[in-house]
Amino acid sequence: MKVIQGKEGEIFDIELSEDLLNKNKELAEENKKILEKHSILAIDVMGSIGSGKTTLIKGLVNLLKDKYQVAVFAGDLTTTIDADRIKEEGAQVIQVNTGMECHLDANLVQKALKEIDLEATDILIIENVGNLICPADFPLGSHKRIVLISLTEGPFTVVKHPFIFINADIGIINKIDLKDAMGVDPEPLKQAMFKIKPNIKVVGTNSRTGEGIKEIINCLGLST
Ligand code: MG
Ligand code: ZN
Repeated sequence: MKVIQGKEGEIFDIELSEDLLNKNKELAEENKKILEKHSILAIDVMGSIGSGKTTLIKGLVNLLKDKYQVAVFAGDLTTTIDADRIKEEGAQVIQVNTGMECHLDANLVQKALKEIDLEATDILIIENVGNLICPADFPLGSHKRIVLISLTEGPFTVVKHPFIFINADIGIINKIDLKDAMGVDPEPLKQAMFKIKPNIKVVGTNSRTGEGIKEIINCLGLST
């Protein structure tokens, strides 16, 4: 398992300075150029720990892999659990460990891009570190941003994390099957997303059974 380890001081910290956020933006633009040169569509997946990002990505890879060559970067603080799970689907997977940092940045993504076969990649899915706060400030150079929440996080996840939805293309409400057990109605969550980002596409999913995954693929402009 290939692991990229963010060294101390290498990961840009939001508290450090505006310059670092600008530098991240510059690197994100460079990443986008690298991706476009190789006609790769990159998708950044953001969501809390336990919201179901890895299971969703496994489902996406499973449906996409016959038609597209898919690579995945799995962001995490220290483990390779997610990368190992995604690898079972047969995609190229790079683990990106951030150490102490709670988000991926464009610098680490650029390092990971050097580790995959860009010629043999059509779609790159980037699983961000489980966190709904600072990934909003660190664009990675992706073309699409997916934010995933689950009903188990309660009824206020969207209103409490508005910034993460501002640049999101698709909002996913996962574990939709637990609606009654959790007593959480997905409808107000959906409306809260529209309030923040009027043209966001919202999909309800049960990523364990695969419900809703095809709809996400349609929303991404892809097909199976
Ligand atoms: Mg995960
Ligand atoms: Zn962070």
